[in-house]
Amino acid sequence: MAHKLDIISIRNQFPILHQEVNGKPLIYFDNAATTQKPQSVIDALIKYYSHDNANIHRAAHTLAARSTDMFEDTRKTIQAFINAKEVEECIFTKGVTESINLVAQSWGRKFLNVGDEVIISTMEHHSNIVPWQMICEEKGAILKVIPINNAGELLMDEYDKMLSTKTKMVACVWVSNALGTINPVKNIIEKAHALGAKVLLDGAQACSHLEVDVQDLDCDFLAISSHKLYGPTGVGVLYGKRELLDAMPPYQGGGEMIKEVSFDKTTYNDIPYKFEAGTPNIGDVIAFKYALDFVNEIGKENIATHENELLKHCVDGLLEINQSFTGTSTSLSDRNVMSSGVETQPITLIGTAKEKVSVQSFIINDMHHFDAGMMLDAKGIAVRTGHHCTQPLMNYLGVDGTIRASFSIYNTLEEVDVFLEAVRKLVKR
Ligand SMILES: *Cc1c(COP(=O)(O)O)cnc(C)c1O
Repeated sequence: MAHKLDIISIRNQFPILHQEVNGKPLIYFDNAATTQKPQSVIDALIKYYSHDNANIHRAAHTLAARSTDMFEDTRKTIQAFINAKEVEECIFTKGVTESINLVAQSWGRKFLNVGDEVIISTMEHHSNIVPWQMICEEKGAILKVIPINNAGELLMDEYDKMLSTKTKMVACVWVSNALGTINPVKNIIEKAHALGAKVLLDGAQACSHLEVDVQDLDCDFLAISSHKLYGPTGVGVLYGKRELLDAMPPYQGGGEMIKEVSFDKTTYNDIPYKFEAGTPNIGDVIAFKYALDFVNEIGKENIATHENELLKHCVDGLLEINQSFTGTSTSLSDRNVMSSGVETQPITLIGTAKEKVSVQSFIINDMHHFDAGMMLDAKGIAVRTGHHCTQPLMNYLGVDGTIRASFSIYNTLEEVDVFLEAVRKLVKR
């Protein structure tokens, strides 16, 4: 059940938020780039390095046993977090980028052939474009791109037309970091599976805002990043169905991923270790568990309720600025950028999908996004400006970048008000 959260006590768990930037209280609205970390995560890192540090899975001594147990505890926690059937289906990587590269290089190299097709979408992050371009080029496979409408929603009819028995992989972002769009992934997966294709979801943004149940979704792979989920940087997870991971060759060779090595022949370890060559980022993996505990404690539904309230307040405020400058009222349905005539309004919203998370991109029509970002920073407000690692999307939309405000559980309506006032001043200038 959703209930009213005590945001102030949640904020108090994040020491970084309590500072001034350029003489103003920090307002951190760049959560889609990376979230801040609660004290419990920071403490876990300090405790690990001051008390437990040892290499995992190898030695017989007490510290090694402790660090191994804690490392594997995080694996169990992420298994429960995404409802994976088996704990071995969760592989630690250094982030979404590495998770996707692992699948493209390992699964792709084995299973893609000349003339096979891989489908991605227009709103992919570079990390779900380039790895597929690389492997498609190597294997002579063809990359196809699902187009979107002006609101930033996938054109599902076009997806239907694109799918065929040649489709081997559909790699799609679950929630767009640039637009906030929540894609209809269950539908995407069902349709791909009907033709025998596999589906990889880029879950970088989805996992912090939405309930995740990989068995219910029936996705074949899911890429997750700790640092977008209140955890440390340099840690991610690749979820994959056991039968697929078992059939895939190792991604990297080295220690940990082997059973037996001789100069003639090496036999590989079982999953997940087969894909975890070398000493992993032990301390940060251990601390990641505390980030997952933090999210579990508040509850995804409560998080979504609060974040949606922030988003609505922000969008209403931006539309209100337009209205006060032009005297015209903008309804939800015609508030999207690309429809003609909207350019006469000072602010153009980018990403107005019906289903979206707490990310709002926009442009101020006579101002470069970079300048806007600098001026907001002067007021202590951190937003992202630029192409958000989605250059093809920006080209498609005909903009060279946007200003993006992205909200998280520790942000407040009062912060949104300060932000809106700052934007209003930029527009007036
Ligand atoms: C941040 C992000 C990535 C990259 O994730 P890393 O863990 O930083 O490699 C990929 N896709 C989306 C949608 C993202 O937001």
